Parts: sequence; C-alpha cells; structure tokens
Amino acid sequence: MQELSTRKLTLSYVIALTIIASLSLSSSLTFSRVLKQHQGSAALINICGRQGMLSQRIASLASQLALGDESVRTDLISAIDQLETAAHDLAYGDGKDLPELSPRVRSIYFEGSHPLYQQITDYLKLARRIAGMKAGDPALRNELAPLLEAARKPLFTGFDVVVGLRELESEDRLSYLQWIQAMTLAGTLATLAVEAILIFRPMIRRIAEYAKNLLLLATTDPLTGLLNRRSFMSRAASEIMRRQRMPGPMTAMMVDADHFKKVNDTYGHDAGDAVLKALATALQNGIRETDILARFGGEEFALLLPGVDVDGACELAGRLLREIAALVIWMDQKPIRFTVSIGVAGAGEKAAIDLMLKSADEALYLAKTSGRNRWMVAP
Ligand code: GH3
Ligand code: MG
Ligand code: MG
Repeated sequence: MQELSTRKLTLSYVIALTIIASLSLSSSLTFSRVLKQHQGSAALINICGRQGMLSQRIASLASQLALGDESVRTDLISAIDQLETAAHDLAYGDGKDLPELSPRVRSIYFEGSHPLYQQITDYLKLARRIAGMKAGDPALRNELAPLLEAARKPLFTGFDVVVGLRELESEDRLSYLQWIQAMTLAGTLATLAVEAILIFRPMIRRIAEYAKNLLLLATTDPLTGLLNRRSFMSRAASEIMRRQRMPGPMTAMMVDADHFKKVNDTYGHDAGDAVLKALATALQNGIRETDILARFGGEEFALLLPGVDVDGACELAGRLLREIAALVIWMDQKPIRFTVSIGVAGAGEKAAIDLMLKSADEALYLAKTSGRNRWMVAP
C-alpha cells in the first residue's frame, strides 16, 4: 500500500484554496469598483443639476436686485459662491467621489473659442459685479441683460451637454465593470468545478482507498486472506448476540495442521506458506457463507458455525479431514501431503465465544494426543 503523503495532500489543498481565495478577492475588488463608480455617477449628476439650478437662481436674484429689492443680495452672493465651488469641483474634481474628466468633456470645458469653463467664469464675474452694485441702480440693468442671456441659453445648453455626456460615459464604464464582474464570477465557478475534478476528487479517492486498504490490513490475514483473530472475535460477538434473540444451535471448531514444523523443515518455509494457503482455501471451500472462518495464528484456524449442531459439525469435520488429506501440493516437483486435527465444541445455553474456543482447543488437544488426522468433541 502506497503511503499517503501528508505534504502532497496539504500542498494540493493549499493550492486549491489559494486559487479560490484570489478569485474571491478579485471578485470583491471588482464589486467595490462598481459600487464606487455608482457613487461617483450619482455625485456627478447631483453637482451638474445643482450648477444648472444655481445659474438660474443667480439670474433671478440679480433681476430682483435690479428691481430694487435689497434683501436678495446675501442670497445672491451665496448662490454665486456655491456655483463657483460646484463648477470648480466638476472641472477639476473634488478629490474623492467624482470621476476624472474624459477627453471629450475636457475639450468642452477647456478647449475651443469659448470653452464652457470660461463661460462659467465670465458669468460668475458678471454676477459678482452685479452683486456689488446698488439695488435698483440703472447701470445694473445694463449689466443684467447679458447675464440673463447667458443663463437662458449657452450656459444652460453647456451644462446639459456635459451632464448627458458624463451620464453616457459612466454608463459605459459601469457596463464594462459589470461585464468584468460576470466574467470573474463565471471564472470562479469554472475554477471551482475544475478544482473539484482535478484536485478534490482524486484527493478524496486516494484517502478513501487508503482507508479501505488500512481496514483490510487490520481485519485480514495477509498470507491467506482469511479474517484475523481480532475480526473473528468481533464477528463472533455479533453472531452470539443474534443467537440471544433467536436461540438455535451453534458450534466452534479449532483446526491445526499436523506436524507442520516438519513441512517447513523438509520442504522450506515457502512450501509451508503454500500449504497454509491451500489449507485456507480448502477450509473456505468446505464451509457455508454464514460460517465464520479465521486464521488464528501459525497453522491454527478457528471456525464458528451458526445454526449447526454438534452432529452437523462432526460431519463437516470428517469431510474436511478427508478433503485435506487428499490434497497434494507440488513444490519443486515434489508432492507434499498433510493432515489436520480438529476440535469441536457446541455452544451451551449461554454461549460465550472464549469458552467455546477453549473447549474446542481442549478437544483439539485430545485429537492430537490420540493420533492426529481426526476430530474430537469436547466433553
Ligand atoms: P502439531 O501436530 O503438534 O501441531 O505439530 P506442529 O509442528 O504442527 O506444531 P508446532 O507448534 O510445533 O509448530 C508449528 C509450526 O508452524 C512452527 C512455525 O514455524 C510454523 N509456522 C507458523 N506460522 C507460519 C507461517 O506463516 N508460515 C510457515 N511456513 N510456517 C509457519
Ligand atoms: Mg500443528
Ligand atoms: Mg499449533
């Protein structure tokens, strides 16, 4: 069984997790950019709207001042200040929320014969001059005409064009970011699927196979493939519990190769192994599927026969003896024959597996001492 490399497993696991983590990170970064873009657009549209509204308010307050209403002066100055700040923010950015100007918007603002920013600055200059004049002053009325004219048409149209352009640009950028986000999500899902197939599935398969092999090693005898003593005992315990619910006959058997040492000494250890395998096969083939057979160690085998009484077990023992005695194992073109002795013990009313095995062992001893190649029943 190939050893499970913890380093390799950990490495695959860490690589898989790192890929997932970086994909999640990039997805989250894109999401926060989309969010920021949304906020920027909202702030932009807000400022543009304010600019239009403020320019109209300035024109209206200046008209009232021209009509002699002194009380509007403070409001007029405040509106002028606000428009100045808004225009500055829009043209040069406010340093946080607003996205930078695109080349197209920049050209409307700063290029051409009468750029928009120049128009706003001129408008503000004129408005400040008016705000500094006496209410109702006839000279004020002369200055008012170009102010109203500017507010009514070029400035208003300029703001409108800029708002429209910036809205379009921000939509473009937003759909681009949303596309990237969808791609990142698709990439993350695809990577997860690929990782599941290429990393996690083989990893789980290897662990499961390793566990299966470990279980096999822990419960079977490597030479014969039969159960080992430990799993025999646990299976026998369940069988006895079942018998407590459904009482019935049950017998145990101990089988031991006769003069096995001699086989090893005469033909070699490999020949001994071959004999043990042949013996295991003969026993396995001679019993029912419900019977439990195990190699207890060395050349000794144990059997538990649920539903079989002592007579039935003795019959089976006799048949096994004959079949085994008839076996011939060829080793280096030399025939090896061997026999076994068997001890049989029936289950009492309250069968305990250790007691049954002990009795079967005593019967086996009797079989050995009375000449071998025979079965004996425990008294
Ligand atoms: P008896 O008829 O009284 O049972 O005599 P025996 O020689 O069979 O019994 P003994 O206990 O003296 O010897 C058992 C031998 O089985 C000794 C040991 O080397 C051999 N043996 C135990 N396990 C293995 C194995 O896995 N392979 C081989 N080849 N020999 C084994
Ligand atoms: Mg023996
Ligand atoms: Mg023995």
